[in-house]
Amino acid sequence: MTSQTTTQQNYIHTLLKTHFGFDSFRPNQQEIIENVLTGNNTLAIMPTGGGKSLCFQLPALAFEGTTIVISPLIALMKDQVDALNANGINAAYYNSSQLPEVQEAVLNNLTTSQLKLLYVAPESVWNLVHYFQDIEISLIAIDEAHCISAWGHDFRPAYTQLNRLQKEFPGTPIIALTATADRATQDDIVIQLGMDGAQRYVSSFDRPNLYLDVRPGQQRMQQILQFLKEKEEQSGIIYCLSRKSTQSVAEKLIAKGFKAEAYHAGIEAEERSRIQDDFINDRTPIIVATIAFGMGIDKSNVRWVIHYNMPKNIEGYYQEIGRSGRDGLPAQGLMFYSFADVIMLRKFAEGTPTEAFQLAKLDRMQQFAEALSCRRKALLNYFGEHKTQDCGNCDICKSPPQYIDGTVIAQKICSAVARLQEQEAMGMVIDVLRGSQNAQVFEKGYQKLKTFGTAREIPWKDLQQYVIQLLNQGVLEIWFHEKGRLVLTPTAKEILFDGKKVQLADLIQPVIDVVKKKATSKKRKDIFEKLRALRTKLASEAGVPAYVIFSDASLQDME
Ligand code: ADP
Ligand code: MG
Repeated sequence: MTSQTTTQQNYIHTLLKTHFGFDSFRPNQQEIIENVLTGNNTLAIMPTGGGKSLCFQLPALAFEGTTIVISPLIALMKDQVDALNANGINAAYYNSSQLPEVQEAVLNNLTTSQLKLLYVAPESVWNLVHYFQDIEISLIAIDEAHCISAWGHDFRPAYTQLNRLQKEFPGTPIIALTATADRATQDDIVIQLGMDGAQRYVSSFDRPNLYLDVRPGQQRMQQILQFLKEKEEQSGIIYCLSRKSTQSVAEKLIAKGFKAEAYHAGIEAEERSRIQDDFINDRTPIIVATIAFGMGIDKSNVRWVIHYNMPKNIEGYYQEIGRSGRDGLPAQGLMFYSFADVIMLRKFAEGTPTEAFQLAKLDRMQQFAEALSCRRKALLNYFGEHKTQDCGNCDICKSPPQYIDGTVIAQKICSAVARLQEQEAMGMVIDVLRGSQNAQVFEKGYQKLKTFGTAREIPWKDLQQYVIQLLNQGVLEIWFHEKGRLVLTPTAKEILFDGKKVQLADLIQPVIDVVKKKATSKKRKDIFEKLRALRTKLASEAGVPAYVIFSDASLQDME
């Protein structure tokens, strides 16, 4: 360590202690702050509550001049500025909710009193550019940066204008921060903001204390009542898709003697803040809400989150379950999903400018719901954190399906993706593997590839299932922003080149389970058990893997 870096480290530790009152940095904060201070661009991906604000607030103090903070949440803007002022830091905010005379006072301050930080709503920033010319801008911070990307889950058109910032203030360092951006969105943020050479910091998204459970949504109310039996007065949130269902679920809970309240954007503001207060102060343990609830709520002892309906994408799901267990103690996320949820969510997406993209993310959400391997592995890989170990703290790890050695299938699929130069979406990859005689395959000359027809023996639907399993295991990734093409992850490369083994769920097993559950007569159960035994026997006689004999699809046909 050079003495110069030691000096700087001492300096930022001093700022941390004297201005913010903290003794040590949270994971990644120091690295991010040091990078910002060198004048480089930075992309910081850090979970909610991870301490993103400090990553631009501390450099703002270290730099000469003013840091401009773009933030979409007007309510949170005020909270942050109040907290900074309370710490004796000269900061202000500017947005359309302020009276003109207040706005004017802020601008006066900006040019005369050397504000260290100015928070601005993205819509308002262009009114101010003119004033920015008269001051020294040290840093531009874009909070909730996923809003800039149409691939993100909360796209705000006002954010797209922000790419002009880099042109207006060339050479001024930019830091973009967000809690939820899949890999595609991360790339898009860097491109959209023109953040050349941005250094990327992705903090771990793992919340090992959260037990993840996903179930089909039959008789959800009954399942919820069962779930709540052991929960006594613990705090929890039930998320519903519609305002109406928040009301009806809350009523049903109250009828069963639970203390619960509904919350949605249609309730008057005053009443909403009363409900929120009662929840935060443990007077109401259960809130049944739309996703309007929870943003900016800092409550550490939420013990469980239930999704009454499937969320519209994995980012939303992760953000919502992440509101439980912030104190690090065990917490539970329980999600229900059904075909009806999918239909409803499709309707919401239809006709919107980002329809295709939203539908692709919805598909991915459904694939996650139907996952046959560790949930946590699927989630973390989705956010670009490569994890190969099973977590042992989710429904699948607790009662795993039967697995087969899927190494050969996985190799075939990965090598097809590689030979297609990682340029094709799932449908085409499967067509090529199956040696389909369709026009598009021939137009592109794919019938000449070595990989063509290498998985002919596997039915289309089954192959699709295996691809989805590989997505959930973090072997493959979908690049939503580039026509949904499939790409390989580092794990895929280990499978192709280092002989890494892969387990895939045996697709016959879920079918048998369903039949067993439904079967009232012992006979039916017998039949399937015989089928299974027969399959094993035939496969071993023929010297082929069992999946070749019957598959999910063929069994369904037999039914
Ligand atoms: P995020 O924006 O990532 O959701 P915040 O910046 O709002 O998170 O920080 C969450 C909380 O953590 C705040 O109460 C903040 O004061 C606190 N915090 C941030 N950094 C530290 C630190 N190094 N030590 C202790 N507390 C911290
Ligand atoms: Mg924040």
